[in-house]
Amino acid sequence: MITFAGVKQGCPVRKHWAATGTNQERHPAQHHKRSIMANSFQELGLNSYLIKAISELGFEKPTPVQERIIPDLLSQDNDIVCLAQTGTGKTAAFGLPSLERIVEHNLGRYTQVLVLSPTRELCKQITQDLRNYSKYLPDFCIVDVYGGAGIEPQIKALKKIPHIVVATPGRLLDLIGRKAVDLSRIHTLILDEADEMLNMGFKEDLDAILESVPQEKRVLLFSATLPLEVEKIAKTYMQDAQMVTVGERNSGSDNVKHYFYMVHEKDRYAALKRIVDYYPEIYGIIFCRTRRETGDIASALIKDGYDADALHGDLSQMQRDQVMKRFKNRHLKLLVATDVAARGIDVNNLSHVINYNLPDEVEQYTHRSGRTGRADKTGKSIVIINTKEQSKIRRIEKIINKTFAQAKLPTGEEVCSKQLLSMIDQINAVEVREDEIAPYLSLIEEKWHNLSRKDIIKKFLSMEFNRFLDYYRNAQDLNIVQEKKKKKGEEADAPAYTPKRGEKGFKWVKLSIGTKQSITTRHIIRMMTSLGVGKRGIGKIEIRRSECFVNISANAAKYVVEQTNNTEYRGRRLWSEIVD
Ligand code: ADP
Ligand code: MG
Repeated sequence: MITFAGVKQGCPVRKHWAATGTNQERHPAQHHKRSIMANSFQELGLNSYLIKAISELGFEKPTPVQERIIPDLLSQDNDIVCLAQTGTGKTAAFGLPSLERIVEHNLGRYTQVLVLSPTRELCKQITQDLRNYSKYLPDFCIVDVYGGAGIEPQIKALKKIPHIVVATPGRLLDLIGRKAVDLSRIHTLILDEADEMLNMGFKEDLDAILESVPQEKRVLLFSATLPLEVEKIAKTYMQDAQMVTVGERNSGSDNVKHYFYMVHEKDRYAALKRIVDYYPEIYGIIFCRTRRETGDIASALIKDGYDADALHGDLSQMQRDQVMKRFKNRHLKLLVATDVAARGIDVNNLSHVINYNLPDEVEQYTHRSGRTGRADKTGKSIVIINTKEQSKIRRIEKIINKTFAQAKLPTGEEVCSKQLLSMIDQINAVEVREDEIAPYLSLIEEKWHNLSRKDIIKKFLSMEFNRFLDYYRNAQDLNIVQEKKKKKGEEADAPAYTPKRGEKGFKWVKLSIGTKQSITTRHIIRMMTSLGVGKRGIGKIEIRRSECFVNISANAAKYVVEQTNNTEYRGRRLWSEIVD
């Protein structure tokens, strides 16, 4: 729930703000106010134009952050630092009181409010949200400006003298330099997703902007986390700021279930595919660690036939807009994204959040997993880890105060039957327009006269399904079994000399040859024995399209790599390395 930094022990910010003297004096009043729990927006004191607009949007009662800060923003002038995660309703929390103030200033035509946000997507989203709230305010004007788009149209739009400007820092600075925007009379400055703005390297731009706007204004800073840089901004540019922390809505959400799958590093992508295939109705975000990984995974998924695409900072703005649009209207089922690109973007009803790789700062996990399980819907937050990453799971468990369940990757057969059943469900759900199809029926019957009902069904299903059958025909068990010993018989189909997978004393060697070069197990065994590796020293062999993995006894693995890496094999350069 809601807590005050001022009453929270050991909060790093407290010392500084408490030292200003006014912070502590404020508490009794705040407590008093807080006891009058507002159940409706009317009680918060918003005007009827705004109430009408937001009730049309389906806002029935304020969210905790709105309930907590709207009354203050309406009745006081102090600065506020608000720590709250994505999805807590911050836009309305700062937007509605800002609009209310503009109305109090008789909708005077000068720029009264400035909102800074890290990305173009967020600028547009905030602008759209504020437009919705202000639908019934006569002659209200808001303009958004951001990089990656032509500056001339933005200069032209600013000539209308909007009440509110929503901007990314870099572009705004540019516009200030060109004297295209007059911020001399703003009464409210909002820094949205401040930590992300600093992460993105906007520190200097922010400093420059904050230096250039009038002193007599209130500053509202919103952030999901409170790193030192954010504190610094707050200390430098805010006065007697009051700190509001809204409870960890995301991690606390009981609607999210957390799972991890443990696989060998080399199987990470295969595991992702298997998870995605096992949930035919999936609509989710796949988080990667870097832009590059994001691009690679998205490309691989697209190549493998999925409705997926990437969202990261290297894309042009137009591409990002396109991707978001397709994802929001569900033409894309999977959005592969970096943390920064996905921050603040409002997409509802995600069924899954998949951590393809955990973030370097595990604290980020809560922001990721909080993207699902919204609005009383349940969601799954899934993490793929290798054997060395178990400690990260433990650390996250401490942060979110929940435990992860270790899930088992489904077998190829399980995936296939799930897909098949889903396909049948989809067919069942199809609406048949009798009248419209009637004229074609005789033609159809003629074409199919020699096929039985059963054959037709099989053909129809195979059309989509063959891709799964092909892929999963010889699907391996990707799960890492933690018990060292497997039951006898489980490996009956493996050659007698095969050491257990991942068994101590064996290492995976990767070779840059695969089925593309018509490589078979036999070739690999021959290659290894010719290098002097005894048959007992050769374990499992997995052959992919353009690479293969061989389990080799540890004492021989290094030698094998030395002997094979950067050599020639059948007229082609051969690369090899020890993996895992
Ligand atoms: P944040 O900025 O904290 O990430 P947003 O302001 O984008 O969150 O709000 C998240 C979602 O919740 C949006 O779809 C918004 O329309 C919705 N929302 C905000 N406030 C309310 C409310 N009081 N009642 C219902 N929905 C709300
Ligand atoms: Mg927001």
